Amino acid sequence: MSNYSYDVGTDVKTYQQYIAGSFFSTADHIEVLNPCNEEVIALAPRGTREDADKAVAAAKAAQPKWGLLPAPTRAEYLKKMAQVIRENRVFLAETLATEQAKVMGLAQVEIDVTAVYFDYYAGMARSYEGEIIQSDRPNEQMMLHKLPIGVAVGICPWNFPFFVMARKIAPSLLTGNACVVKISEETPMVCLEFARLIENIGLPNGILSIITGYGHEVGQALSENPDVGIISLTGSVGAGQKVMEAAAKNITKVSLELGGKAPAIVCKDADLDLAVKAIVASRVIFSGQVCNCAERVYVEEEVYEEFMTKLLPAMKAVRVGDARTDDKADMSAQINKTQLLKIDEMVKRAKEQGGEVLLGGRISSQFDKGYYYEPTVITNVEQDHDVMQNETFGPVLPVMKVSSFDQAIDFANDSEYGLTSSIYTNDINKILRATKELLFGETYVNRENFEAIQGFHAGFRKSGIGGADGKHGLEEYLQTKVMYIQQN
Ligand code: NAD
Repeated sequence: MSNYSYDVGTDVKTYQQYIAGSFFSTADHIEVLNPCNEEVIALAPRGTREDADKAVAAAKAAQPKWGLLPAPTRAEYLKKMAQVIRENRVFLAETLATEQAKVMGLAQVEIDVTAVYFDYYAGMARSYEGEIIQSDRPNEQMMLHKLPIGVAVGICPWNFPFFVMARKIAPSLLTGNACVVKISEETPMVCLEFARLIENIGLPNGILSIITGYGHEVGQALSENPDVGIISLTGSVGAGQKVMEAAAKNITKVSLELGGKAPAIVCKDADLDLAVKAIVASRVIFSGQVCNCAERVYVEEEVYEEFMTKLLPAMKAVRVGDARTDDKADMSAQINKTQLLKIDEMVKRAKEQGGEVLLGGRISSQFDKGYYYEPTVITNVEQDHDVMQNETFGPVLPVMKVSSFDQAIDFANDSEYGLTSSIYTNDINKILRATKELLFGETYVNRENFEAIQGFHAGFRKSGIGGADGKHGLEEYLQTKVMYIQQN
């Protein structure tokens, strides 16, 4: 049951930032629009450099005491966070669906998985470990300790705002860091509602702040702050480069999860029905705005015609609708007008370069308002076309015929991105080759692209440095110290 009522479309909420246990108003705001009808639904705080510095200073002051608590005590707070999310799961999903046009089913999954995520990391409190190392000296003990880094900054994107916020908070707090999260200015509502829900769980002041505003203002200030120990950004390559530049001044550790251009390889022996179903699902989930989802397809020529015969009706059957009111919709509107126009420009460019649009290829005329783009399939594309090289982040699927598996691997790897990839085959030799030869942080075999919380989500090449989730994701927030103890 939701604890709060929220009349979508009539309330325009003005949000405050959550800094060191209290809520603060800002002088300026950023309008938040419902992407399905373009109505203003909220005013997000436009945080300032001073707000960023204040949150970091509070985190720095509070962290030493927090870091000395037993990890299982810190884990209790994560469990409380999971609990308040569960108690308010429908309200949070409705808020998320409204501010970013995520269909309700997926919005609910994001909220529920986030609660699981907090519980998952709480469960690691008793299992992350240091080491005892054999010494060269008599009567000496060498112990490798894992210590918190200090102040962890998380900078988040708009596409999975709630889950990615948890991806920063859960591992950093569990390991004894204090955390400042800079949520996306596009989707502040669900995260600031979370701040309100956890206000009274007893977290020491300063251990967690949730702030927002523009990246070049608040994000930049956080990245430049010398008191920050690690900056974990999830976002575009451009933002990653800016964060790295700013972090270089203080040699601050960075962990970057950036964009992708995921290839899907369909081999001649593949189960084509399965491949079509998984690729379509991977392309239209959250209206194509998912970093790890299939952005380009390579099909072995022997099965190309049959694959296309199955793909087109499947893409055509994708139902587009209002995220909140159409409970049968597979996808909805794009996040904002800028993103909508960018997708349209990319499709126009693909046509200029010789691509043939077999389905969609335009801004939807089905709706009077909202940022809707038609599910789109493009063929006759070449490897060097922009639509095969640059991240589209929309429901646009370019498909290319390849002459061999070797060529598919070469084309797949020919990308500045290296986040995820997928392959459809029942040939164990091809699967084994993909393990070593497909150079991406994740490869999905015979399934849609969606990572598990106990895995490790990380990109090769420009898709990032470091990663999140599982025990390796926890390590990002720890620094290693060796104690040499000589016994008298
Ligand atoms: P974005 O880069 O525009 O913004 C991400 C965050 O960075 C926002 O909070 C923004 O305010 C902040 N930011 C922007 N400029 C900054 C600067 N100069 N300094 C500090 N912070 C700055 O990305 P977006 O549009 O919110 O999200 C879409 C992008 O994120 C896509 O490229 C997508 O592939 C990527 N993404 C990657 C993953 C992953 O796990 N690898 C997950 C989700 C999204």
